[in-house]
Amino acid sequence: MRTWTLSPDRDPMGAAIADYLAHGKASKLRVFSSQFDEDEIPVAQLFRTYEQMPDIEREALKRSCGSILDVGAGSGCHSLALQEMGHSVTAIDISPLAVEAMRKRGVKEAQCVNLFDPAFTGSFHTILLLMNGSGIVGKLAHFPAFFRRMRQLLAPSGQILMDSSDLSYLFEDEEGNLDLAPEDTYYGEVDFQMQYKQVKGDPFDWIYIDFCTLNLQAAQAGFQAEKIAEGEHFDYLARLTLK
Ligand code: SAH
Repeated sequence: MRTWTLSPDRDPMGAAIADYLAHGKASKLRVFSSQFDEDEIPVAQLFRTYEQMPDIEREALKRSCGSILDVGAGSGCHSLALQEMGHSVTAIDISPLAVEAMRKRGVKEAQCVNLFDPAFTGSFHTILLLMNGSGIVGKLAHFPAFFRRMRQLLAPSGQILMDSSDLSYLFEDEEGNLDLAPEDTYYGEVDFQMQYKQVKGDPFDWIYIDFCTLNLQAAQAGFQAEKIAEGEHFDYLARLTLK
Protein backbone atom coordinates (compact mmCIF):
# COMPACT_ATOMS: atom_id res chain seq x y z
CA MET A 1 0.00 0.00 0.00
CA ARG A 2 1.26 3.51 -0.76
CA THR A 3 1.90 5.60 2.32
CA TRP A 4 1.94 9.12 0.90
CA THR A 5 0.39 12.24 2.38
CA LEU A 6 -0.95 15.08 0.22
CA SER A 7 0.99 18.19 -0.64
CA PRO A 8 -0.95 21.34 0.29
CA ASP A 9 -1.14 22.49 -3.36
CA ARG A 10 -2.85 19.20 -4.31
CA ASP A 11 -5.22 18.99 -1.38
CA PRO A 12 -8.61 20.30 -2.57
CA MET A 13 -10.68 18.91 0.32
CA GLY A 14 -8.19 20.34 2.81
CA ALA A 15 -8.34 23.71 1.05
CA ALA A 16 -12.16 23.66 1.25
CA ILE A 17 -12.04 22.75 4.96
CA ALA A 18 -9.52 25.53 5.68
CA ASP A 19 -11.65 28.07 3.79
CA TYR A 20 -14.84 27.06 5.58
CA LEU A 21 -13.13 27.23 8.94
CA ALA A 22 -11.70 30.70 8.21
CA HIS A 23 -14.81 32.25 6.63
CA GLY A 24 -17.81 30.17 7.69
CA LYS A 25 -18.48 29.41 4.03
CA ALA A 26 -16.74 27.81 1.07
CA SER A 27 -16.99 27.50 -2.71
CA LYS A 28 -17.90 24.30 -4.50
CA LEU A 29 -15.88 21.19 -3.71
CA ARG A 30 -16.20 19.50 -7.10
CA VAL A 31 -15.94 15.74 -7.55
CA PHE A 32 -15.12 14.09 -10.89
CA SER A 33 -15.19 10.42 -11.68
CA SER A 34 -14.84 8.30 -14.80
CA GLN A 35 -17.97 6.37 -13.70
CA PHE A 36 -20.29 9.18 -12.61
CA ASP A 37 -21.38 12.66 -13.62
CA GLU A 38 -19.68 15.57 -11.94
CA ASP A 39 -20.86 15.97 -8.37
CA GLU A 40 -20.25 18.22 -5.42
CA ILE A 41 -19.57 17.69 -1.69
CA PRO A 42 -21.32 20.33 0.43
CA VAL A 43 -18.39 21.59 2.53
CA ALA A 44 -20.68 22.44 5.47
CA GLN A 45 -21.48 18.72 5.69
CA LEU A 46 -17.83 18.02 6.58
CA PHE A 47 -18.42 20.17 9.68
CA ARG A 48 -21.57 18.34 10.79
CA THR A 49 -22.35 18.28 14.49
CA TYR A 50 -23.48 15.19 16.37
CA GLU A 51 -27.12 16.25 15.86
CA GLN A 52 -26.58 16.64 12.12
CA MET A 53 -24.91 13.26 11.66
CA PRO A 54 -26.79 10.39 10.03
CA ASP A 55 -28.02 7.68 12.39
CA ILE A 56 -25.36 5.16 11.40
CA GLU A 57 -22.59 7.62 12.34
CA ARG A 58 -24.24 8.40 15.68
CA GLU A 59 -24.49 4.68 16.30
CA ALA A 60 -20.75 4.36 15.57
CA LEU A 61 -19.95 7.11 18.07
CA LYS A 62 -22.19 5.55 20.72
CA ARG A 63 -20.38 2.24 20.30
CA SER A 64 -16.89 3.78 20.39
CA CYS A 65 -14.95 2.98 23.54
CA GLY A 66 -11.43 2.86 24.95
CA SER A 67 -8.69 4.61 23.02
CA ILE A 68 -10.08 5.57 19.62
CA LEU A 69 -8.41 6.05 16.24
CA ASP A 70 -10.40 8.21 13.80
CA VAL A 71 -9.04 7.32 10.34
CA GLY A 72 -9.45 9.92 7.59
CA ALA A 73 -10.84 12.30 10.16
CA GLY A 74 -11.36 15.25 7.78
CA SER A 75 -12.45 18.36 9.66
CA GLY A 76 -12.53 16.32 12.88
CA CYS A 77 -16.30 16.25 13.33
CA HIS A 78 -16.36 12.75 14.83
CA SER A 79 -13.19 13.27 16.89
CA LEU A 80 -14.59 16.45 18.42
CA ALA A 81 -17.91 14.80 19.28
CA LEU A 82 -16.04 11.90 20.90
CA GLN A 83 -13.76 14.23 22.86
CA GLU A 84 -16.87 16.00 24.17
CA MET A 85 -18.18 12.64 25.35
CA GLY A 86 -14.93 12.27 27.33
CA HIS A 87 -13.13 9.82 25.04
CA SER A 88 -9.47 9.86 24.14
CA VAL A 89 -9.10 10.12 20.35
CA THR A 90 -6.23 10.12 17.88
CA ALA A 91 -7.27 11.61 14.53
CA ILE A 92 -5.23 10.92 11.40
CA ASP A 93 -5.54 12.20 7.86
CA ILE A 94 -3.33 12.48 4.78
CA SER A 95 -4.50 16.07 4.25
CA PRO A 96 -2.13 18.55 5.92
CA LEU A 97 -4.74 21.32 5.67
CA ALA A 98 -7.43 19.17 7.28
CA VAL A 99 -5.05 18.26 10.10
CA GLU A 100 -4.21 21.92 10.67
CA ALA A 101 -7.95 22.69 10.76
CA MET A 102 -8.56 19.87 13.25
CA ARG A 103 -5.90 21.25 15.57
CA LYS A 104 -7.40 24.74 15.34
CA ARG A 105 -10.84 23.31 16.11
CA GLY A 106 -9.54 21.66 19.27
CA VAL A 107 -8.78 18.07 18.28
CA LYS A 108 -6.13 17.29 20.87
CA GLU A 109 -4.23 14.59 19.00
CA ALA A 110 -4.24 15.07 15.21
CA GLN A 111 -1.51 13.72 12.95
CA CYS A 112 -0.91 14.08 9.25
CA VAL A 113 -0.07 10.50 8.40
CA ASN A 114 -1.29 7.75 6.10
CA LEU A 115 -3.10 4.84 7.77
CA PHE A 116 -0.75 2.45 5.95
CA ASP A 117 2.48 4.18 6.99
CA PRO A 118 4.30 1.65 9.22
CA ALA A 119 5.88 4.57 11.10
CA PHE A 120 2.44 5.20 12.60
CA THR A 121 1.98 2.85 15.53
CA GLY A 122 -0.44 2.46 18.41
CA SER A 123 -2.93 0.16 20.03
CA PHE A 124 -6.57 1.21 19.77
CA HIS A 125 -9.77 -0.28 21.18
CA THR A 126 -11.89 1.32 18.47
CA ILE A 127 -10.81 2.14 14.93
CA LEU A 128 -13.34 4.37 13.19
CA LEU A 129 -13.65 4.78 9.44
CA LEU A 130 -16.65 6.96 8.61
CA MET A 131 -18.31 8.60 5.58
CA ASN A 132 -17.96 5.57 3.39
CA GLY A 133 -14.92 4.69 5.45
CA SER A 134 -14.21 1.60 3.35
CA GLY A 135 -13.20 3.99 0.57
CA ILE A 136 -9.74 4.42 2.05
CA VAL A 137 -8.98 0.78 1.24
CA GLY A 138 -9.19 1.79 -2.45
CA LYS A 139 -9.63 -1.58 -4.16
CA LEU A 140 -11.06 -4.99 -3.32
CA ALA A 141 -7.59 -6.53 -3.73
CA HIS A 142 -6.28 -4.29 -0.94
CA PHE A 143 -8.54 -5.73 1.77
CA PRO A 144 -6.02 -8.40 2.91
CA ALA A 145 -3.41 -5.62 3.44
CA PHE A 146 -6.03 -3.50 5.20
CA PHE A 147 -6.87 -6.28 7.65
CA ARG A 148 -3.16 -6.97 8.28
CA ARG A 149 -2.78 -3.28 9.12
CA MET A 150 -5.82 -3.44 11.42
CA ARG A 151 -4.23 -6.35 13.31
CA GLN A 152 -1.18 -4.15 13.98
CA LEU A 153 -3.25 -1.25 15.31
CA LEU A 154 -6.05 -3.01 17.21
CA ALA A 155 -5.79 -3.62 20.93
CA PRO A 156 -6.81 -7.11 22.12
CA SER A 157 -10.60 -7.44 21.73
CA GLY A 158 -10.68 -4.16 19.82
CA GLN A 159 -13.23 -3.30 17.15
CA ILE A 160 -13.33 -1.59 13.77
CA LEU A 161 -16.44 0.49 13.03
CA MET A 162 -16.73 1.24 9.34
CA ASP A 163 -19.54 2.44 7.11
CA SER A 164 -20.05 1.70 3.44
CA SER A 165 -22.72 1.34 0.77
CA ASP A 166 -23.88 -1.30 -1.67
CA LEU A 167 -23.78 0.32 -5.12
CA SER A 168 -25.53 -2.58 -6.86
CA TYR A 169 -28.71 -0.49 -7.28
CA LEU A 170 -26.79 1.54 -9.87
CA PHE A 171 -26.31 -1.53 -12.04
CA GLU A 172 -29.76 -3.10 -11.93
CA ASP A 173 -31.72 -3.53 -15.14
CA GLU A 174 -35.49 -3.00 -15.32
CA GLU A 175 -36.18 -6.45 -13.86
CA GLY A 176 -33.91 -5.77 -10.92
CA ASN A 177 -31.16 -8.11 -12.15
CA LEU A 178 -27.55 -7.05 -11.90
CA ASP A 179 -26.35 -5.93 -15.31
CA LEU A 180 -22.66 -6.79 -14.89
CA ALA A 181 -20.25 -8.80 -17.05
CA PRO A 182 -18.14 -11.45 -15.29
CA GLU A 183 -14.95 -9.79 -16.54
CA ASP A 184 -15.92 -6.47 -14.93
CA THR A 185 -14.02 -5.40 -11.84
CA TYR A 186 -15.96 -5.34 -8.57
CA TYR A 187 -18.83 -2.88 -9.08
CA GLY A 188 -18.02 -0.83 -5.97
CA GLU A 189 -14.55 0.14 -7.21
CA VAL A 190 -14.58 3.74 -8.41
CA ASP A 191 -12.15 6.55 -9.05
CA PHE A 192 -12.51 10.14 -7.92
CA GLN A 193 -10.73 13.40 -8.39
CA MET A 194 -11.58 16.59 -6.52
CA GLN A 195 -11.19 20.26 -7.22
CA TYR A 196 -11.61 23.29 -4.99
CA LYS A 197 -11.19 26.68 -6.69
CA GLN A 198 -7.88 26.28 -8.60
CA VAL A 199 -6.63 23.41 -6.44
CA LYS A 200 -6.98 20.10 -8.25
CA GLY A 201 -6.07 16.85 -6.53
CA ASP A 202 -4.71 13.69 -8.15
CA PRO A 203 -7.21 10.95 -9.07
CA PHE A 204 -7.58 8.28 -6.40
CA ASP A 205 -9.25 4.87 -6.02
CA TRP A 206 -12.19 4.53 -3.69
CA ILE A 207 -14.28 1.48 -2.86
CA TYR A 208 -17.89 1.02 -1.79
CA ILE A 209 -18.30 -2.53 -0.55
CA ASP A 210 -21.53 -4.44 0.01
CA PHE A 211 -21.81 -6.18 3.34
CA CYS A 212 -21.69 -9.70 1.90
CA THR A 213 -18.39 -9.05 0.12
CA LEU A 214 -16.98 -7.32 3.19
CA ASN A 215 -18.00 -10.29 5.31
CA LEU A 216 -16.14 -12.63 2.96
CA GLN A 217 -13.00 -10.49 2.94
CA ALA A 218 -13.12 -10.23 6.72
CA ALA A 219 -13.52 -13.99 7.18
CA GLN A 220 -10.55 -14.67 4.90
CA ALA A 221 -8.46 -12.36 7.09
CA GLY A 222 -9.60 -13.94 10.37
CA PHE A 223 -12.10 -11.22 11.26
CA GLN A 224 -15.82 -11.43 11.82
CA ALA A 225 -18.17 -8.82 10.48
CA GLU A 226 -21.51 -7.80 11.87
CA LYS A 227 -23.92 -5.33 10.29
CA ILE A 228 -25.00 -3.19 13.23
CA ALA A 229 -27.04 -0.48 11.52
CA GLU A 230 -28.57 0.31 8.16
CA GLY A 231 -28.91 3.73 6.60
CA GLU A 232 -31.58 5.04 4.29
CA HIS A 233 -29.78 4.55 0.99
CA PHE A 234 -28.12 1.12 0.86
CA ASP A 235 -25.54 2.33 3.39
CA TYR A 236 -24.70 0.43 6.56
CA LEU A 237 -22.40 0.36 9.55
CA ALA A 238 -20.24 -2.71 10.14
CA ARG A 239 -18.44 -3.83 13.26
CA LEU A 240 -15.37 -5.96 12.61
CA THR A 241 -13.56 -7.90 15.30
CA LEU A 242 -10.85 -10.53 15.37
CA LYS A 243 -12.17 -14.11 15.51
N1 SAH B 1 -14.27 11.11 8.24
C1 SAH B 1 -14.48 12.46 7.74
C2 SAH B 1 -13.86 12.72 6.36
C3 SAH B 1 -14.20 11.71 5.29
S1 SAH B 1 -13.46 12.07 3.72
C4 SAH B 1 -15.96 12.76 7.74
O1 SAH B 1 -16.75 11.83 7.95
O2 SAH B 1 -16.35 13.91 7.55
C5 SAH B 1 -12.12 10.91 3.75
C6 SAH B 1 -10.87 11.45 4.42
O3 SAH B 1 -9.91 10.41 4.44
C7 SAH B 1 -10.22 12.62 3.69
O4 SAH B 1 -10.05 13.68 4.61
C8 SAH B 1 -8.89 12.06 3.20
O5 SAH B 1 -7.86 13.02 3.19
C9 SAH B 1 -8.62 10.94 4.21
N2 SAH B 1 -7.78 9.82 3.74
C10 SAH B 1 -7.82 9.21 2.53
N3 SAH B 1 -6.93 8.19 2.48
C11 SAH B 1 -6.32 8.12 3.70
C12 SAH B 1 -5.33 7.27 4.27
N4 SAH B 1 -4.79 6.28 3.55
N5 SAH B 1 -4.93 7.48 5.54
C13 SAH B 1 -5.49 8.50 6.28
N6 SAH B 1 -6.44 9.33 5.79
C14 SAH B 1 -6.86 9.16 4.52
